[in-house]
Formats: sequence, C-alpha cells, structure tokens
Amino acid sequence: MKLYEYLGKKIFQAFDIPTPRGYTIEKAEEAGKIAEELGTVVIKSQVLTGKRGKAGGVAFASNPEQAVAEAQRIFQLEFDGVKSERLLVEEKLQIEQELYLAFTIDSAARCPVMLFSLDGGMDVEEVSEERMIRWPVNNSVGLHPYAIREVCRLAGVTGNLQKELLKIVPSLYRLFRELDTELAEINPLALTPQGIIAADAKVTIDDDALYRHQDLPRIKEKTALELQAEELGLAYVELGGEIAVMANGAGITMSTLDLVQHYGGTAANFLDFGGGADLERTAKALELLLGTDPKVLLINIFGGITRCDVVAEAFVQVKESKGIDLPVSFRLVGTKEKEGRAILEKAGIQAFTGMDEAVRHAVALMPAP
Ligand code: GDP
Ligand code: MN
Repeated sequence: MKLYEYLGKKIFQAFDIPTPRGYTIEKAEEAGKIAEELGTVVIKSQVLTGKRGKAGGVAFASNPEQAVAEAQRIFQLEFDGVKSERLLVEEKLQIEQELYLAFTIDSAARCPVMLFSLDGGMDVEEVSEERMIRWPVNNSVGLHPYAIREVCRLAGVTGNLQKELLKIVPSLYRLFRELDTELAEINPLALTPQGIIAADAKVTIDDDALYRHQDLPRIKEKTALELQAEELGLAYVELGGEIAVMANGAGITMSTLDLVQHYGGTAANFLDFGGGADLERTAKALELLLGTDPKVLLINIFGGITRCDVVAEAFVQVKESKGIDLPVSFRLVGTKEKEGRAILEKAGIQAFTGMDEAVRHAVALMPAP
C-alpha cells in the first residue's frame, strides 16, 4: 500500500526525520491563508503516481493570490486519470543540493538495501551506478554507524553532512523496519542552510503486513474494475494495454502475459479466473474483461478441473448477450475439449491447441496503430 506524501511526512515526523512546515488543503482558496503564514510556498498534488514534478504537479507561489491560482490549476490536473483530493502546501525550502536516500528490499539478495546518492531530484533514474551507492543490510547484524560512514566515504560525504546523515539514516531504517515497508524513500533529501530536510516522502507498506498496522489509514489504490473483481473474488489487475487476457491459473496467466509481450503485444489486464469456475463465474470474469475496452480478447484454457465446455458455453452466452464483436483468439485444451470446441465452432470460433499460436494470433489481430 502506497502512502500519500503528506501521510509519509507525518510518519517521518514521528521518527524524527525533519520535514518542511506545511498543511494539506481540500479547497484551492485555503492556499491563500497558508501562503500568508509561510511566505513563498510550494504546492504539491497528492497522488500515488511518481514524477508529479515533471507533470506540473509541483508549483511555487510567492504570494497568496498566486498560491490560490496554482492550487486551482493543480486540483484540475489528472495523473493516470486521477485528480488530487488534497494538496500539500509547504514552506519553500532553500535547496542547495538534492540528495537521494532510500531503503528498499533487494529480493534477489533477500535483504534490505540502503540507497544513497548526492545526485537526487527528478532525474534520479539517470544517475550512474557509481554515483548511486547501494549498501545491502545484513538482517542479523542490522545497520550500524560504521556502515553509514562507509556509505558516506563511498559517496564522498564528510563533515557536517555526514553528522546529519548519521542521525537521519538510522531513523529512516527504523521506520523501514517497524512499518514493514517495501520502500521508504526521500527524494529529494534537501540540503538547506537549516540542515537536511525531507522534501518528499514515498512510503510503501507491504500489504501482507498491513494487519500489524491497524493505526494506518487504508489507501484505496485499486481501480473501479479491480474493486469489482475483488468483490467477485477474482485475481485481476489492470495493465493499460490492448489485449484483454483471461486464463485459468496464476502461472498460466503470467506466462500468457509474458508471451503477449514477447510477440510485441500489450496486455490490458491480468485475469486469473481460477480452476473449476462454473458457468456464472466464468461469465462474470468475461464481462470484467470487456471493462477496459480492449481491442482483442485472448483466452487461454488448459482444462484440468476447469471444463472447456463450461468456458466455451459461458463465452458464447456473454458474446451473444453483450453483442461482442471483438476479434478473439482462443486456446482450448484439456477436460471436455471436444465438447468445448464444438460449442465454439457452432459460434464460428476456431480454437488453437498451442498457447504460442494463440498468442501470436492475438497479437496479429491487433489493429494497426
Ligand atoms: P516528485 O516529482 O513527484 O518526486 O515530487 P517532489 O516532491 O520530489 O518535487 C519535485 C521537485 O520539486 C524536487 O526535486 C525539487 O527540485 C522541487 N521542490 C520540491 N519542494 C521544494 C522546495 O521546498 N524548494 C525548492 N527549491 N524546490 C522544491
Ligand atoms: Mn520526489
């Protein structure tokens, strides 16, 4: 679960990580009073997508009128189709240098890793490997001050900044551990005349550990279709591409998505409708598939407990009742395959036996851009 910046910053404060003075607002007019109090302010959209700065979601204002105008503008901005419900209005920091500091999990190395760079800010993805210091944290040893000093040495940090990092890094690490986060990131960590201050906050909590954090608000990240799928108990994720994919089992669905990508297609979604679904459930899953307005349907069935005839019957029913005339690529093998094929053939659909052919066919069915 990703936290909004303003929530991340509240948590930072609880862990003694300095943040700018500021307030959240729900109406643009409120920005005026805050600008009166704080002087020059930075106004920031509160959405869960990154790169707000580059998308115009971070603005400065040097007087109340300008603050209100910028707030009005930012409230109208959409990030991946989502507008901000709130904005964060903060004192504008006098930033001398933008640093980068984060803890995340290195799943290959199976340990937390500290990331630090003197070249933080909006282009952090472009920072070269030598300038981004990676320090794996040994879980049984923990993060000791010598490790932080070593990271400072590797980055070329000395003096006052090192002293400040020796305070802030353990705080962020403690937060990272205590809140079961997958990511605790400060970018930029602003070097100012008043010391280092977290100008941004990105905190992602491990969903499987959320039950240990009843005090945290629950942030809704799911799209309307994903919520609908959740109610139906279906594993569904929207992916933004053009080929709607449905398969029976998480593994087969994942490999179908891989193949779509391999052959140059883009998947609209992940949808595993499980093994042994009945007619009604299969029909519901199919309806969900149509929700993203895909260009092509790709259905990949390897029937074990799933019966091919049930899937075929559900498909034909939904096709007729919803009047679907999208191109479809079907792969159908396994239990009751012959019966399933007969049902599809009656509806004019030829099913493949190989997954590879079915995916290639689906990609070929995509309309030219
Ligand atoms: P992001 O683009 O979503 O990561 O949003 P950030 O909160 O990181 O802001 C983007 C950029 O705005 C930062 O890299 C800074 O360059 C700038 N910025 C944000 N807050 C301040 C501030 O208080 N003072 C100054 N001078 N720049 C800021
Ligand atoms: Mn940032």
